[in-house]
Amino acid sequence: MAGRSRGTPTRGAAEQVVTYVRGLIERGELTGGDRLPPERDLAAHLGLSRPTVRAGLRALATLGVVQPRRGAGTFITDGPPSLGSEPLSFLAALHGFTRDEMYEVRRILEVGAAGLAAERARGEHLAELADEVTSLYASIGDPQAFLLHDINFHRAIGVASCNPIVASLMEMVAALYYEQRRDTASRAIDRDLREAAEMHRRIYQAIRDKDPNRARTEMNAHLITAQAFQAQEEQGHMGAGSEGAPGK
Ligand SMILES: [Zn+2]
Repeated sequence: MAGRSRGTPTRGAAEQVVTYVRGLIERGELTGGDRLPPERDLAAHLGLSRPTVRAGLRALATLGVVQPRRGAGTFITDGPPSLGSEPLSFLAALHGFTRDEMYEVRRILEVGAAGLAAERARGEHLAELADEVTSLYASIGDPQAFLLHDINFHRAIGVASCNPIVASLMEMVAALYYEQRRDTASRAIDRDLREAAEMHRRIYQAIRDKDPNRARTEMNAHLITAQAFQAQEEQGHMGAGSEGAPGK
């Protein structure tokens, strides 16, 4: 067979593929939707056999990091957070976490993160948060886009906490949140999105003003409201008020 076949791929060797691809993603050289280099190029680059590369790619697919597409190659999974977010999503698929459980965790984690961000956020963190707030206002009327900016805002707070463990946990929770909400988010009504955008702006302002107590209070209030909005979406209430515009 072809030159350097090493028999059954060993676990350690396949992990090299996982580590290599993770490095590409972390350095921003590959992002959601991008195609991975062909199997033979990976094999040559890493000095591994093709079966070993395939085993590594299968592991990445199991983690949800890549998706093979027949005849087209292997692609980085699209969607907002990816790496480091899969363990919780996998558990969610197995055990079916409830919305209330998720919001409980979000309050425990994100209220604290908002306080840390108010103490530690640097200029680039504030700029990122301000951008997301602007995008939230611009996405009123487009609930799916709003959801993505909502998630990015919360991830940015995780980063602004300047604690990498908090940031990683936020990534995991953000993935869970996205999966739970994406199917119902389109039922959100503009009035609720406007109120949500307001709440994000207040969180941002408290962080910018370096006021941890206010940041925590605003985040807590936002998460309680978001939980109620999401419950309404799931019940299919197209707005309890008079916002009956058929839209589109
Ligand atoms: Zn939010």
